Amino acid sequence: MMIRIRASMADLLTHGLSAALVRGGKRPDSTLLWLVSGVILPDLLARAPLLLVHGLQHRLGWMEWLALDDDRLITAMGFPHTPAGMVLVATLIALVLPASLTRSPGRWRVAGLLGGGSLLHLLVDVMQRHLEPAGYYLLYPFSVERWELGWFRSDGSLLALPLLAVLWVVLNWSWLRRVRSG
Ligand SMILES: [Zn+2]
Repeated sequence: MMIRIRASMADLLTHGLSAALVRGGKRPDSTLLWLVSGVILPDLLARAPLLLVHGLQHRLGWMEWLALDDDRLITAMGFPHTPAGMVLVATLIALVLPASLTRSPGRWRVAGLLGGGSLLHLLVDVMQRHLEPAGYYLLYPFSVERWELGWFRSDGSLLALPLLAVLWVVLNWSWLRRVRSG
């Protein structure tokens, strides 16, 4: 359980860095903040509840009525991790957020950044090679066929993390140096 949580954390950091890299050498701003929020949403909404229920069942014996080996339940809980779910979640969040948060970029831009970040998350996930169950429901709810490219191992996040961090520092070196020198 702890290993899975640590691996998930590393995975989230890798996803966060992927959003920062998409912004190139631009200084962090509100656009990046929305994009990073979108990048962490799919696992936060689809994976974290599963890990939480799994932990409650095994450590405290709570919620044992919830059958975590039921494929239909797992598929339904994974909806926020599908493209259709991401678009829906991003739109709903942008619509219910207080106007004071969305005024500056605009609600539809917030929806676009959250949705774009979530789709970037899925793009990185799809590149990975998983053990069972392999692949992601890209066309759910119209199809339950799973897809993945399998270019690198799913636990490669740990290895990729320092490389991506170095790449981000190199890309952003000019403004980082200015900040350091005051
Ligand atoms: Zn994911």
